[in-house]
Amino acid sequence: MKKFDAIVLGAGPAGICAALYLVRAGFKTAIVEKNSPGGQVLSTAEVENYLGFPKSVKGFELADLFSAHIDEYPVERIRGDVVSMETALEGTIPLHTLHMAENGEDLAAPAIIIATGSQHRPLGIKEEEEYRGKGVSYCALCDGNFYKNLDVAVVGGGNSALEEALYLARIAKKVYVIHRREGFRGAKIYLDKIKKMPDKIELITSSVVDSLHGSPNLETVKLKHVETAQTRDLKVDGVFVYVGNLPNGAFLPESLPKNEQGFLITDLEMHTEIAGIYAAGDIRAKACRQVCSAVGDGATAATAAINYLEQLDV
Ligand code: NAP
Repeated sequence: MKKFDAIVLGAGPAGICAALYLVRAGFKTAIVEKNSPGGQVLSTAEVENYLGFPKSVKGFELADLFSAHIDEYPVERIRGDVVSMETALEGTIPLHTLHMAENGEDLAAPAIIIATGSQHRPLGIKEEEEYRGKGVSYCALCDGNFYKNLDVAVVGGGNSALEEALYLARIAKKVYVIHRREGFRGAKIYLDKIKKMPDKIELITSSVVDSLHGSPNLETVKLKHVETAQTRDLKVDGVFVYVGNLPNGAFLPESLPKNEQGFLITDLEMHTEIAGIYAAGDIRAKACRQVCSAVGDGATAATAAINYLEQLDV
């Protein structure tokens, strides 16, 4: 078992920021990364609202900058997947152990910051899996280019759906945004941009995706009006699903309090109910899910962990 003062789980903006603060405070810090560093920023085409980038910045560039920042410090970067965690007393101090997948070496520390983020919520319709990769996608940046001059639909009414509809409008012939309500959750600035290009992006509101059809690839989406239950067929080659997020928390112990969707509940200092365990970023139950709020969570969690470790005198 490898021991550290603090271990950060997840190398998105929240985790990278937390690791930066911990290592700069002089603590032996590890950051566990499952995939490439950057988290969801990596699959965002352009980040327009992160302070300091007035002309916007590409998601992968911002992720590279975050990663380069901790490379300036002796943070131990561990590639792996945490499958479970448990807490036991070492003397009087709670020590948290992380069990890794594929016989990876166990890791332990008195302070853990969970920043494993969230993943796309599926639409939850019967044919969704069948058409995954054959017309159904969850990443416009990754798959958008397959739909050059073709017709696509984006499902959802939040910032992700609106942002990605604008991105796809630069590639596809036509983009339909399918949203289950009349009102949109996403920012007015995106909606205003969309409304200025009705030939390119069409809003279909009060409608849900009922079923998917085509062989072998997606050809038609059956839409259902939520009030009248009337259905209509929409011919599209691709559907991009942006209907919110689910927490990446399969490894979390039962004893950590979560909300009904499984997001971790913390206090204002990002502390969970278990001494020495903090949560930061999208894994946390909260309203604002932005790169800047993830970074803020990371700094807050690390500051609380630093105070805790100083009291323990590790
Ligand atoms: P979101 O804000 O939770 O929006 C999800 C959308 O999907 C909502 O419009 C919701 O409809 C709809 N929806 C949920 N379940 C559905 C279903 N089963 N069928 C059809 N529609 C469904 O999620 P998000 O857009 O992924 O964004 C997540 C968070 O990241 C948000 O806090 C967002 O502000 C933030 N974000 C920010 C930026 C940015 O500022 N640049 C970019 C991306 C994301 P209802 O509205 O009816 O609930």
